[in-house]
This record gives sequence, C-alpha cells and structure tokens, in this order.
Amino acid sequence: MFALEITELTKEYKNGVKALQGVNLRVQAGDFYALLGHNGAGKSTTIGIVSTLINKTAGKVKVFGYDLDSQPALLKQQIGLVPQEFNFNQFEKVIDILSNQAGYYGIRRAEAEKRAEYWLKKLDLWDKKEQQAMRLSGGMKRRLMIARALMHQPRLLILDEPTAGVDIELRRTMWTFLQELNRQGTTIILTTHYLEEAEMLCRHIGIIQQGRLVIDMPMKDLLAKL
Ligand code: ADP
Ligand code: ADP
Repeated sequence: MFALEITELTKEYKNGVKALQGVNLRVQAGDFYALLGHNGAGKSTTIGIVSTLINKTAGKVKVFGYDLDSQPALLKQQIGLVPQEFNFNQFEKVIDILSNQAGYYGIRRAEAEKRAEYWLKKLDLWDKKEQQAMRLSGGMKRRLMIARALMHQPRLLILDEPTAGVDIELRRTMWTFLQELNRQGTTIILTTHYLEEAEMLCRHIGIIQQGRLVIDMPMKDLLAKL
C-alpha cells in the first residue's frame, strides 16, 4: 500500500518558471520519508500540490489510493499539513484554532475537545490554551501547527521544513515526537535542506534538484554510498 504515489508531476507557474519537470515518487504506508533539496528545488511546490493548495500543470497524484483529480475531498482527509509559514489567525486563542480545525473536518465537539487536550499536552502547549496565537514564541507556534494538523487524525503527516529556525533543543524534542508518531503508524513526509536531519529521522530519502527527483532510496543505501 502506498501512502503517496506521484506520477510524472509537472508544474509551470504563471510566470513561466518550471518548478517540477516530471517528478515520480512513491512513499510506502508507514514510512518516514525526507524530501531533500536546495532552496528553489521544488519541495514546497510538490507538497503544496499533494495537499491541494497549488494546482498542478500535469501528472497524477494519489494518497492512500485516492486520486487528486477525482477524489480531492477524500484525499485531503488523509493528509495533515504543517506549512512552513504560520497561517493561522494571530488573534485567535490556541484552543479555538484547534476547535475550528475540528469543526472544519466535521468532528464532534466532545471528541474535538478530547483530541485538543491530548495533542496540546503531548506538545507541551496545554498551559497556553487560552493564549492568543500571536503571544506564542516561534517554537510554540510551530508546535501549534503540528497539533492543528493532527486534529482529524490524518494517516499522512506532511511537514514543510518543520525545524527551520528552531533551536537545537526544540528540534530534538520535535524529532522524538515525530518518531513516536511514526512508530504508532502515521506516515510522515518532511522537507528539509539539512541532510543530518533527514539522516537522523528518516528511513527513505528523495533528493529533488531543479524540479526532478534525482535520488530516491532507503537512507541506509544512501549512507553506504557517501
Ligand atoms: P523549495 O521548496 O524546494 O525551496 P519551491 O517549490 O518553493 O522550492 O520553488 C520551486 C521553484 O518555483 C523556484 O524556482 C521558485 O522560485 C518557483 N516558485 C515557487 N512558488 C512560485 C510562485 N508562486 N510563482 C512563481 N514561481 C514560484
Ligand atoms: P519569538 O520566538 O522571539 O517570540 P517569533 O518567532 O514569534 O519570535 O517571531 C516574531 C514574528 O515573526 C511573529 O509575528 C511571527 O509571526 C513572525 N514569524 C516568525 N517566524 C515565522 C515564520 N516561519 N513564518 C511566518 N512568520 C514568522
């Protein structure tokens, strides 16, 4: 079973930039996959398309068998996205950000409260639940985005540069958190431009260069080559 199947994916932005030029990528269910590449390689474009935020130019995308073209709502249900940029309303309270997200996915109130408490405690944000998002530090906001992404219990969690600008202590905490989540069955894909981070966390690695996937192999095979 594949969590993600991308076939001949291309993206040309309106300004003519060819961000993706025929990407083929498969991620097994249960895997922890790192998509590595320099700035501008096409990582964000790839995950933006998979999570339905960016329109593709051509190609096929399936998530747990659901097709992006014909079953976008079902596909979206499978995915939790942690974007690179904070994209919540800074005036909202932490707890409301989570309950709004739950509402968006049609999760009942009692269940939503239970889940919010669980994730806020896990991510060490429980004592901030009544605070406005804008009053959180950068690291707290990032953890809040992770909690939000997990509210609807996605089978695939996608994180775009989750530890960019995060200090080493929090980075380690986040690594441990993500490893535990993966052990419990959530497939994880993250983008990074740190090889060390990918090496530390991931079982499989894809390297994207100028819109093409140039390497796609188990991490241990890559390490053996270096
Ligand atoms: P990465 O995430 O690996 O840094 P991106 O997917 O953000 O790479 O970008 C891939 C290419 O597409 C880059 O050349 C970038 O400048 C370009 N690009 C990204 N977003 C847009 C956009 N909205 N409009 C035009 N070009 C874009
Ligand atoms: P501190 O951790 O020192 O409290 P923040 O990390 O909260 O500072 O950043 C200060 C401001 O910069 C905030 O308004 C925050 O929204 C914004 N900011 C910081 N990092 C990002 C990011 N990755 N994307 C978008 N906005 C950011």
